[in-house]
Amino acid sequence: MTLFDRILILLKLGPDHRFMTLSTISMKWLSENQIKGLILDLDNTIISEDDCYLSPGVERWLQQVQDYGIQIFLVSNGKREARFINWKERLHLPGIHQARKPFKSGFKRALRSMNLCPHDVMVIGDSFHTDILGAKISHLRCIQVASLPHPKLWWENLIGAYIQKPYPQEYPLDINEIKGKVSH
Ligand SMILES: [Mg+2]
Repeated sequence: MTLFDRILILLKLGPDHRFMTLSTISMKWLSENQIKGLILDLDNTIISEDDCYLSPGVERWLQQVQDYGIQIFLVSNGKREARFINWKERLHLPGIHQARKPFKSGFKRALRSMNLCPHDVMVIGDSFHTDILGAKISHLRCIQVASLPHPKLWWENLIGAYIQKPYPQEYPLDINEIKGKVSH
């Protein structure tokens, strides 16, 4: 645990839970935590920003979650509309982009759309300053997952280690999982 993680715990700003990938979150765990809806980040949580890596087993996991009666709503800060629509359609999920997390509006819209109360919902994402901080501001429970490998922006090279968790080598990524053309 880094010093930054310890400070977050002291300030009660750390994620409530941590998992390595989405598909390691079991239906049993979601049920034990009385989850009726998930607010999911897209970039580097489900798919890497450069569209190279899909989180292992994620499409099957998303289907399992919905078959289990849990709603899913994507809340993405992504600005590329065509790309967002492409992924939303491929994954058969409702959602919004340009959500401006950590501000509340995107989370509120997700709750309204799913018609659920805050205590029924879990936010899942890879970044502290958008997903986790946003969930805390909106009084929602949250899970931080490891960030899928992606090209680093200049500021991520400086502080990325504090706000995202590196993707673990023990969870193999299959580049062939991504089939079909991706619009940008
Ligand atoms: Mg993300």
